Amino acid sequence: MNALLKYQLYNVGFKGSMDELQAAAFLDAVNKTYEKAEQDRIECEKMLALSARGSKRLYQSFLNRSNKKLSTTEEKYKKLLLNLQPYYFFYTKNRDGQFISVSESVEDMLGFSNQEFIEKYSTYFMYGLRCDLESRLLTTEYGYNIPYEISLKDEKGRERYLEITEFPVFGEFDELMEIEGIVRDVTEYYKTKHKISNMLYYDALTGISNRLHLEVQMEKLLLENYRKGEKFAVVFIDLDYFKHINDTLGHDVGDELLQKVANGIREILNPYDIFARIGGDEFVIIHKHIESDDIAVKIHEVMEVISTPWDIKGYELKISASIGVALYPDDGKSMIDLMKNADIAMYKSKSSGRNNFTFFQKDFNRYVHTEMNLIQDMAEGLEKGEFLFHYQPKVLLSNNEVIAAEALVRWQHPEMGLIYPDKFIDLAENTGLILKLGRWVIDEACRSIAWFNRLNPDKRLKLSINISIRQFQHEDMYGVIKEALQKHGVDGSQLSIELTESIMMENKNEMAKKLNDIKSLNVGISLDDFGTGYSTLSYLDKLSIDELKIDKAFVDAIPENGDRNILLDTIIAMGKTLNMKVVAEGVEHEYQRKYLADKSCDIYQGYLFSKPVNKDAYAAYVV
Ligand code: C2E
Ligand code: CA
Ligand code: CA
Repeated sequence: MNALLKYQLYNVGFKGSMDELQAAAFLDAVNKTYEKAEQDRIECEKMLALSARGSKRLYQSFLNRSNKKLSTTEEKYKKLLLNLQPYYFFYTKNRDGQFISVSESVEDMLGFSNQEFIEKYSTYFMYGLRCDLESRLLTTEYGYNIPYEISLKDEKGRERYLEITEFPVFGEFDELMEIEGIVRDVTEYYKTKHKISNMLYYDALTGISNRLHLEVQMEKLLLENYRKGEKFAVVFIDLDYFKHINDTLGHDVGDELLQKVANGIREILNPYDIFARIGGDEFVIIHKHIESDDIAVKIHEVMEVISTPWDIKGYELKISASIGVALYPDDGKSMIDLMKNADIAMYKSKSSGRNNFTFFQKDFNRYVHTEMNLIQDMAEGLEKGEFLFHYQPKVLLSNNEVIAAEALVRWQHPEMGLIYPDKFIDLAENTGLILKLGRWVIDEACRSIAWFNRLNPDKRLKLSINISIRQFQHEDMYGVIKEALQKHGVDGSQLSIELTESIMMENKNEMAKKLNDIKSLNVGISLDDFGTGYSTLSYLDKLSIDELKIDKAFVDAIPENGDRNILLDTIIAMGKTLNMKVVAEGVEHEYQRKYLADKSCDIYQGYLFSKPVNKDAYAAYVV
């Protein structure tokens, strides 16, 4: 059987389940195909060798006959060869691999005289070539050698890449007499090739491998480990809330963060581990030679690196990552399965609160399946009216009076029951469905307001809705809101929108204009989750914001023992100085409510007063 074929069949693990006759016929056919292809290759290489040899002969005859008059054709060739000189030189070696002669053109190429070259590189060259030489020259059937590359330093110390083609010269009794060599300077070619493979295989931003390189290396690894039966781990890393940082602080900061994180991780990996960036904030590590217990230790180290505070352009950023792990061969034997399962495990980490890692388990599949289905179901669900609001009262701290509500979207899924926004808002944002959902929210809010107004024409409570940054950026907010208000006959003063700080940081002038347009409809603007982002209050002052919603994290941090929380106090005081209504979110305990009331915070929202409730339950506050 053809050796190449045999090798390839071995590589793909072919053990042969055909009966012997079938197999023989099959192999015979394949063999013929390979033989034909190999014949072509041999012909091709022979031609190459002959032409190279011809050049050498010509060159030597010129050297010998330099004083004689040359024919015009020979003149032409001589010119040609002289032009080629910086790129070629020739040599002859004896059967032990020592140089006998080196053509003078070596000086044009490398800057050494031929004597200097022999002195400097005879051992180097010999060592580099001899083992190769012997095995090759002995096995070669065609009287030439396949070219190969070496690199060495020229006289100026620069790295040169040389391509060498050698021919054995046989004596009368077929014994090896000499070796002739042609050396071609392929430095430029090599550098370009290198540059191209760099571009192909490495991520321009972080300098680590890209997805293609990861795939190539993983295929290789699968092939090797398939034979050796060794384990390895595919570790899928997704940074938490990276999008948020990118959106709030800009791409410069995001890019630098990715670079620093990539560098930091690379430093703690073993040199033989594979590390790649395969998407915006997604990285993959392949840990080789592992046991399951030390992989956990390794991942802890990676998480620690990621969560060290990063100092970037004056911001101190603290981030985390959600990580999923799939093991070869237990969790998959192919690249596709391993990557998919590591990804699934990563999702599991995300959904169980982020900043942790999860080993893949077989029953995870069902979970992700539903997440994929959710995206498809969502568009349909919006058409079919499966979405609804729960309303959470906003209460005055001074007298416990309900003065408004926040409308929080829910999805009554036909099979899965009531689904909360943390399960679908992210998905909606990533798929563009957020626009559709957002328009529904605006329309439904105005419809609700009109309904509550009919219920009690005197009370005219406000309703606030949440608008996601993607929606705010891409939607004609002014147009959509105006249309909904008109459609349901509602005054803008009864509606307010809750935006997170990130919106304010994005393209400031454009956002300020959008906000002002919306304000012109009398619609209120409220800053949600305040304190979790990076905006500065001095900047917020310039925007027309009516309400500051202090994030639940600050409320949680109120000391139960009556001590002060200076940060919270400062935020409340600043909000008041800027003439904003200050709202505290997520108030669950009486001591929190009391603390906030003492600090003259205006409004609170939280389970202490009421969870978000359905329309009928909320209507009780309206009548
Ligand atoms: P958010 O705007 O910060 O809403 C407050 C969340 O905190 C709500 O969760 C609410 O149910 C919950 N919460 C209220 N009081 C308490 C409390 O005392 N303790 C605790 N532990 N939680 C409390 P929900 O309804 O699951 O909403 C989560 C997030 O989903 C919202 O956070 C908001 O960012 C987003 N969201 C909700 N509705 C919409 C919407 O219509 N459009 C958009 N784009 N996002 C929405
Ligand atoms: Ca909100
Ligand atoms: Ca909030």
